[in-house]
Amino acid sequence: MALEKRLSHIKRKESENRIKFGQQINISVLADNPTGCSHCSYDSQYKVSRDPNCSYCGGKYWIYATTVHNEYVKVRWIAEAVEEEIVIGNLQVGDCVLIARIESRSFFENTIKYETRIDIDPLGGDITPISDSIEVIPQKIVIDTLKSEIAVSCSRVYKD
Ligand SMILES: [Zn+2]
Repeated sequence: MALEKRLSHIKRKESENRIKFGQQINISVLADNPTGCSHCSYDSQYKVSRDPNCSYCGGKYWIYATTVHNEYVKVRWIAEAVEEEIVIGNLQVGDCVLIARIESRSFFENTIKYETRIDIDPLGGDITPISDSIEVIPQKIVIDTLKSEIAVSCSRVYKD
């Protein structure tokens, strides 16, 4: 079988496994080009709104359009600190590693850039109102050897 054909077969298999054994996550993706708030004016000296209490932009002036990206990933929760420390390092109990398709890499990089969080259900189901949040750890997006999936290390953010 030609290498290309074999790779597309593997990718299809991986995709099936993510849906079968994985769970949904929601990623808030911020647009790279912000638009200026139309309800206040810009203070070019302090690089914020002249109105710190503007209810449309929160006093920041620049508004980033947000879209929510939803996809299935395989999740490995870090449950046993001692064992995992050797394998992964830096991760603590409650953190996790997501296995996602490589095409989604830019979504995870976007969350690092804008310091946004990812919604996930810690009980392994799909997104629910009780879902928790995780944050991608910078420098912790690793491409697998076949260049078809990425492993994304995330730390758990506990909601109050
Ligand atoms: Zn404003």
